[in-house]
Amino acid sequence: MKKLSGNHIATYSGNMNFEVRDMHGGVHAMALSSMTCSYRSWHLSELPCVHVMTSLSSRRMQANVMDYVASYYKKEAYLKTYSSSISLIPGLNYGPMQGSTH
Ligand SMILES: [Zn+2]
Repeated sequence: MKKLSGNHIATYSGNMNFEVRDMHGGVHAMALSSMTCSYRSWHLSELPCVHVMTSLSSRRMQANVMDYVASYYKKEAYLKTYSSSISLIPGLNYGPMQGSTH
């Protein structure tokens, strides 16, 4: 099955693997099961690349794209990071300085 998504065409090759062609003649191998794409932006950013989006769209997969996003980008990680209180740090102008005439 082929699907055009923007300037990309995904072809399903079985076992959750796809071949994605771009308008410049580039061909990229994308494997959902191992979360890898030969274009490597997915590997570097850990955010699903256009090849993932095109592939999911081509199969009309009900998969949640968030399943393919690294956990540290997700709301739960953000909330956990800032769940504890942050101590206030007094500034320089918190009182008269020693030797001050004021
Ligand atoms: Zn990719």
